[in-house]
Amino acid sequence: MGSAVRTQQDTCPTVGSPFETEFISRFGLPHTWRGALAFAWLLLIHLTAALGLYLYPRPGWSLFFAFLLIAFVGGVGTTVGYHRSLTHRSVSLHPVVRWVLIFVAMLNGAGSPVNWVATHRLHHATADTPDDPTSPLWGGFWWAHAGWIWDSGHSVPRNYAADIQDLAPWERFLAPILVASYLGGVASGPAAFFWLGSLRLVLAFNATSFVNSVCHGNPVASSPEAGSRNVLWLALPQLFLGENWHQNHHLHPWSPRLGFAWWQLDIGYSIIVALEKLRLARRNTKPKFFQRASEIRR
Ligand SMILES: [Zn+2]
Ligand SMILES: [Zn+2]
Repeated sequence: MGSAVRTQQDTCPTVGSPFETEFISRFGLPHTWRGALAFAWLLLIHLTAALGLYLYPRPGWSLFFAFLLIAFVGGVGTTVGYHRSLTHRSVSLHPVVRWVLIFVAMLNGAGSPVNWVATHRLHHATADTPDDPTSPLWGGFWWAHAGWIWDSGHSVPRNYAADIQDLAPWERFLAPILVASYLGGVASGPAAFFWLGSLRLVLAFNATSFVNSVCHGNPVASSPEAGSRNVLWLALPQLFLGENWHQNHHLHPWSPRLGFAWWQLDIGYSIIVALEKLRLARRNTKPKFFQRASEIRR
């Protein structure tokens, strides 16, 4: 983890004017077939979503509510299932709840659990250093937002997710779940095809990606943890699930709660408390895994 302790000023190739550090991006083409597939998928959902907005700009209240509800449930899968439970171990979930949350996270386009967890642990271990897979400080806004997905030279060590290798078989279901997610709405008509499929996937993708692209990149931060930001407006696309309080999270990654102040809405945490009352979850105040880079063994 030597590079994780390099200072940004020593080695960062993009530190310069605020414009350079915040907005100029590396934005290359895919190098691998996996990268090409990811690029094609993201292009497909964004083009389909644009067409859907053009053809059906007013979906009606019931369809719009269904769009928000499915996106919200998928977001719970990502923040409670993938992030707080599987990655940081700040909450233990009943196995059935864990499986349901993995399914809805994959349905929302979050990818397979092992890959998500390993990538996110690498991000925490190397935040805003050259080894960070998603840092806008090093790659620019668009790199952090999307480009890293298909153009990254980073390989994520498998042992960053050694404790959840029993979840590796979910990878096999990724393609069929994504196809069902994209096409499933067609059963309820053409407007539902767009709003429950591509438009929902585009909302979920960008809400998550903004955490990478706008919640990081403070070039004068005193530490990698302090280089992250809480971003108020991101609460809305995040559907108030709490992931926008990202500096809180970097400062206290072991906390199951992300919104610390009373006004920092964190519905993800409320859901954890409710699950705990139903004996389907248990908060862990001192989880053993992955608090600091030094605790991760390669
Ligand atoms: Zn995290
Ligand atoms: Zn971060």
